[in-house]
Amino acid sequence: MSITERDLNHFGETNAAKDKLLEVRNLKTYYPIKGGFFRRTIGQVKAVDDISFEIKKGETLGLVGESGCGKSTAGRTILRLLNATSGQIIFDGKDITNVRGKELRQARKDFQMVFQDPYASLNPMQMIGDVISEPFKNFGYKNKKEIKEEVMNLLNRVGLPEDAYYKYAHEFSGGQRQRIGIARALALKPKLIVADEPVSALDVSVQSQVLNLLKELQSDFDLTYLFIAHNLSVVKHMSDRIGVMYLGNLVELADKNAIYDEPLHPYTQALISAIPEPDPKRKRERIVLTGDLPSPANPPTGCPFHTRCPVAKPECSEVKPTFKEVKPGHKVACLLY
Ligand code: SF4
Repeated sequence: MSITERDLNHFGETNAAKDKLLEVRNLKTYYPIKGGFFRRTIGQVKAVDDISFEIKKGETLGLVGESGCGKSTAGRTILRLLNATSGQIIFDGKDITNVRGKELRQARKDFQMVFQDPYASLNPMQMIGDVISEPFKNFGYKNKKEIKEEVMNLLNRVGLPEDAYYKYAHEFSGGQRQRIGIARALALKPKLIVADEPVSALDVSVQSQVLNLLKELQSDFDLTYLFIAHNLSVVKHMSDRIGVMYLGNLVELADKNAIYDEPLHPYTQALISAIPEPDPKRKRERIVLTGDLPSPANPPTGCPFHTRCPVAKPECSEVKPTFKEVKPGHKVACLLY
């Protein structure tokens, strides 16, 4: 019996599906705006407005954009900390968009978040040993000796001394607190970690130590990262591919070198032009965007970037560009392409 082209296509698709850890399809997260005497819904903040992307196993996808562009809301929706308004979140082959109760708890074992402000996410009244033990207890692990051993291993793995077990959050520096947050996120050996601005609250001197730790842990623990940040140099250091968000929309997505060396979207070009060029012989023209970021409660018609785009055409205010692949692996939403 011969193998047909259809069989081969099917085989290819199946392998590609196995490769994906996360697939986000047409995801929208809107917040209602309440007003009037009866607190009726009078509008919606379109925090995430129809984004689609996927992350392969072991990959790091960076999400960048100005504050308020929806990147953190996207991360929280994917982890089911917020409810999606519509769209689909497929995690490890399973649609988790609307799972609840026991099923959601079970799914949560496999994805964790590392927060921007580790201090706010650590209970100041709990010993660090208890903070890191919590996920084990929440998932029914009972053997106290084994849990303690695991916690000690995790402390060691994130570069903290064993006596950290008996201390409290206020006794640590910002960088050490972020290491504690990372240890807690790793406790249940998740597959995906969403890191939301994990170093932006830290001193520059410790940022690279924490970033390098995240990289080491990625290979040791077979982790996949969704790495959210506004600092493009940090995102470049961490990511394999980068997605650029503007006003709740994904406007460009490509391999990190393509984003830095050949950005296609005028917004990405402006972001990249603002990065200081370390080589004085290479001159990069700075593109300064004028105008304020519009409100996601009242986004512009047509292309969401047209009110600030330096190369906007008349039709840009009427037609919303589709997010499409214009080169292999390089997607952009702009009417110029
Ligand atoms: Fe600029 Fe028009 Fe492209 Fe939007 S569609 S980025 S306004 S050129």
